[in-house]
Amino acid sequence: MNNFTYIRAASVKDAVQRTTNDNNAMLIAGGTNLVDRLKVFLDEPSQLIDISRLEMKRIEQTPEGGLSIGALVSNTALADHPDVRRDYPILARAILAGASQQIRNMATVGGNLLQRTRCPYYYDTAFACNKRQPGSGCPAATGINRSHAILGASDQCVAVQPSDMCVPLAALDAIVVVEGLKGKRQIPFTDFHRLPENTPQRDTNLEAGEVITSVILPPVPFAKSGVYLKLRDRASYAFALISVAAAVDLANEQIQDVRLAMGGVAHKPWRATEAEKFLIGKPANAATFQQAAEIALEGAKPLTHNSFKVELAKRAIRRALAVSTKGGGVGE
Ligand code: SF4
Repeated sequence: MNNFTYIRAASVKDAVQRTTNDNNAMLIAGGTNLVDRLKVFLDEPSQLIDISRLEMKRIEQTPEGGLSIGALVSNTALADHPDVRRDYPILARAILAGASQQIRNMATVGGNLLQRTRCPYYYDTAFACNKRQPGSGCPAATGINRSHAILGASDQCVAVQPSDMCVPLAALDAIVVVEGLKGKRQIPFTDFHRLPENTPQRDTNLEAGEVITSVILPPVPFAKSGVYLKLRDRASYAFALISVAAAVDLANEQIQDVRLAMGGVAHKPWRATEAEKFLIGKPANAATFQQAAEIALEGAKPLTHNSFKVELAKRAIRRALAVSTKGGGVGE
C-alpha cells in the first residue's frame, strides 16, 4: 500500500472540491471494496477523503410517495428499514443476499453502486487488464471466464458488475442524485453504470469530482410482489452467477406491468426492456414466461466457459416471474 494523506471531509462541497482539485484523491466511506483494492495496489491514491461522517444517512418519504435514501445509509439499515421492507421487499431481499452481516453493516449505498468488478484478473497485478491499465489486454476474454459477461461485453473487457442491490434498483427505475462543482444532477439508474466498449476503465457515468448524495426510489406499488432470485456456487457469501429481480402487476391473470432486470450477466445491471414490453398485456403463464426469457437473452454472446449462464438466466427469469405472480418472495 502506498503512503497517502487521510482527511475527513467537512461537507459534500469540501469533498467535491478536494477530489476535483486532485485527480488522485479518492473518497472512502465504508471501505469494504476500496480497502481490499488498496491492499493489492489496484488503487494508489494521493489522499483518502473520508466522507463517512457526513449527513447522508437518512431514509425519507418523498412527496411522490417514494423513498429518498442517503448515500451513506448502510446496507443493513436499508434492508431493515420498515418502509423498504413494506414497499420494496425486492430491494431488502437483494441486499440480504449479498456479502455478510459484518460487511453489510459497513457498506454504504453509494459505495455499493461504486464497487468494482471481482474479475480475478483485475485483482491480480501479475496479469494484464484493460480495466486496470487501458490498452494492456484482457486475459479473461480467452482465459478462465466462467463468471464473466454474456451480454453487452466488448473485446476490451468481459467483466460483470457484482452488486446485488443494484439489480432491483435498475428494475425499480431508481435515480442517482450526485453533486459536483456545477451543482446537483440526477442520473437514471440504468444510465449510471456503463458498458465497457473502448473505455473499460470507466465503470460509471460520474464526472470527475462528483459525489453520490442519495438514491431516489419512485413509487412502484407492485414492487411488493417483487422477487430477487440469486443463483451462485454456494449458498452464502458468493457473488451471483445469475440473479434476477422481477415484479409483476397482475389483474385477472393478465400482466398489467412488469419490471425485469438481471445481475451477473453484464458490466452493468441489465434491464430486460424488450422482455418487459413483450410481457405487458400477456396472460401470466409458463409459455409467456418462456418467451420473455428467450427475448431477454436474445443478444447473449457466451464465452468459452460460461455458456451455461444463458440457460441458467432463462430458467431464473421464468421462475422469478412465476413466483412474482404468486405474490413474491425470495424465489429460492
Ligand atoms: Fe480486466 Fe475486464 Fe478483462 Fe477482467 S474482463 S481482465 S476486468 S479487462
